[in-house]
Formats: sequence, structure tokens, C-alpha cells
Amino acid sequence: MRPSDRVDGARLLARLMDLARFGAREDGGVDRQALTAGEILARAELVRWGRELGLRPYTDAAANLFLRLDGAEPSLPPILTGSHIDSQPTGGKFDGAYGVIAALETVQAIRDAGLQPRRSIEVVAWTNEEGSRFSPGMTGSDLFTGTRQLTIIESDADAAGVRLGDALAGVLGADVDIPHRPFQFEVAAFVEAHIEQGPLLERAGIPVGVVTGIQGTRRYRVRVHGEPAHAGTADRAERKDALMAAVRMIAAIDTAASSPADTKLTVGLFEIKPNAPSVVPADALFSIDLRHPDNAVVDRLDTEIRKIVERERGPCTVELKQIQHSPSLTFDSAVRATIARCAQVLGFPHQDIHSAAGHDARQLHYVCPTGMIFVPCRDGISHNPAEWSEPDDLTAGTRVLADTVWTLASEA
Ligand SMILES: [Zn+2]
Repeated sequence: MRPSDRVDGARLLARLMDLARFGAREDGGVDRQALTAGEILARAELVRWGRELGLRPYTDAAANLFLRLDGAEPSLPPILTGSHIDSQPTGGKFDGAYGVIAALETVQAIRDAGLQPRRSIEVVAWTNEEGSRFSPGMTGSDLFTGTRQLTIIESDADAAGVRLGDALAGVLGADVDIPHRPFQFEVAAFVEAHIEQGPLLERAGIPVGVVTGIQGTRRYRVRVHGEPAHAGTADRAERKDALMAAVRMIAAIDTAASSPADTKLTVGLFEIKPNAPSVVPADALFSIDLRHPDNAVVDRLDTEIRKIVERERGPCTVELKQIQHSPSLTFDSAVRATIARCAQVLGFPHQDIHSAAGHDARQLHYVCPTGMIFVPCRDGISHNPAEWSEPDDLTAGTRVLADTVWTLASEA
């Protein structure tokens, strides 16, 4: 008997749909941003499911949620598996939630098969992966792995001025009898199942992706300071037009990033002040999100971006702030091999795939052997209410996860 034999696809899908009730949007999507009332309810539901299975819940100062199945040798470092339950404001039912529900199904399948792993297994939901409310994301996995410190970020505020520390206290205050643990306990391995959020697996007709690594990301905020002036009277030569400078910068950065062709450049945020039709813009703020699997490409464009903003600022002043730098990474080869072998034994076609998006697995890979399993999603659509994955693919990914986690928890 293997754990995958006991994975129940109908139960998996039912729990995914159940979880999607918390923060449900009218269009069928999910708006369950980090540390909100919707997330508190979803978290309580997970704890309830876990307790029904005899799992013990734990949390920490970042409100990461762990549901623990004790192994035969409970003093050994555990295997962690999970993802996140927060969403973008225009999120779907699967991003993050799939990895957590698949992890819960994995533990239930192991129990239903009458098996006890050697190592303990913990289902985990990391806090604020998305970063839409408190930016940047990956808060829970960052704090757990020591990449960031809570004392430094607890006064970060959301758009309404709510401090991260207070939002965390709100979630932790709603917990009932959930013990706290310190950050950074030893972990034997981490495996995260996730929808691909891209079109490759669906196009190839392959249900299981063995994720080789995550492409590098650099994120910036660029603030251009000019001077407000009258649209009718201010001479063109004397203007300090922050918007025009910003537009020149963005056009030049777009050109620089046009090669190699698989470079991803996004300017997703743009604000100007005073944003009035007859006033020369005094301030412009924009974001840059730059990604490529090859670190050398990202580093070269970083140098170019810095040159461009200086060159195109004209009479304005400019501040460029890099807010994130995550180099490309490669996942542990032994974990990848275990995932591929489990898929092979189950007869599921699988292929290696590079992750274009960031995930909590990035942070975990710094502290323990880590891997990810991708399943296809329709048309590659994600961060969108239309997000969808076929139940057969969700089940296939979960069966591979169950055998992978079992193998990792049983081996030396
Ligand atoms: Zn996600």
C-alpha cells in the first residue's frame, strides 16, 4: 500500500471549494488577502480539518500555521509540505490553496493507508506569500528562514495604515489553543505543490511538472521629482515634468529588456501627483519587476536600468530603490529525483519545468532540501477569478506529492 492509493480526488476538490468560500468573490474568484477576516476563517477551517485527522496545530510569531502528524521518531526534524492560503484581490481558488489542501490530503492518505512515517510530517500554510496587502510578500517563509526579521518589518503598514504587527496580533488572537513555536527549527525537507501559473504543462498535455528552480527577480521603485507648474503658462524649456521623464525612462528600460526575448519586464504601478489635467506633474512613482532565469541577464539589466534613470531624468531628480533581489535558484537534485521517480512509478507523464513565479519554496531552499510539484492550469491563467485546474490533474499532483512526502519521511 502506497499513500497515493488512498488519495481521494473528490475529497481534495471538495476541500478546495470549501476553502474558496472564505473571501469568495461574486465572479467565482477569491479575495482573501493576508491577515484579513477571510483568512482568519479559512485558517480556523484548516485547523478544524487538521484536528479531525488527529493532527496537532502550531503557529509562530508570523502566524505561519503548522498541522503536525507525529512520526515514529518524533525527535527527528520533520518533513514540511504546504504553500499559502492568502490570495491576490483578484485571485482564484487554486493559487496557494492547492498546495495546502494537497498537503492535508497527503497526510490523510498516509493515515488512511494505515502507515506511520519515520519522520513527523507537517502541513504548513505560510503567511502573506502574495504581498498584495503587505508588500513585499513571502513574509512567513522569510521570517521562518531568517531571511528577514520581525522587529524590522512589524511596523510596515498596509494601504489603510494598519501595521503588520497589529494584523499578525489580530490573527493570532483569533486562534483557539494553538501553541507557539520559535522560528527556524530544523526541517528535513520541504515540498510545495502548486498550479503552474503558466501554459507549458497544459500545452504539452503533461499532468506533473518537476520544478527545477525559480527564475531570478529584481523589483524596484523609481520616484521622479519635478515641479508643479501651470499647463498654460510654464515654458516647455523651464518645466520639470516628472511624468515625461518617467515615460522616457520606462520606454528606454522596455527597449533594454527586449533582449533576450524571454526577459520579463513589468511596470505595474504608476502614480503621478498632483494628477490634475492642467498641472505639470510634480511627482511620478513607478515600479519595475524584472525577471529572467539567467542571473547574468538580470545583473546586466540592473546596470542598464540604473544608467537609464540618470540619463533620462532631464531637469528632474530621481530616486531608484531596489526593494527585492532574488537570484535564480536550482532545487535540490535528490528531492527532484524523488518527485520524478514517484511520478514514474504512478505512470504519470512528467517533465522538468522552471518556475517563472516566486514561491515560499524559494525561502525554504536556503535552509533545507526543497522541491516543488506543478500541475497544469487552464490557459496558464492565475491571479484571476477564472483560474482553473482539472480535477484529474490536481489529483495526479497530489498522488505524486503523497508518495514523495512519504518517501522523504521514511528514508534515513
Ligand atoms: Zn502561490
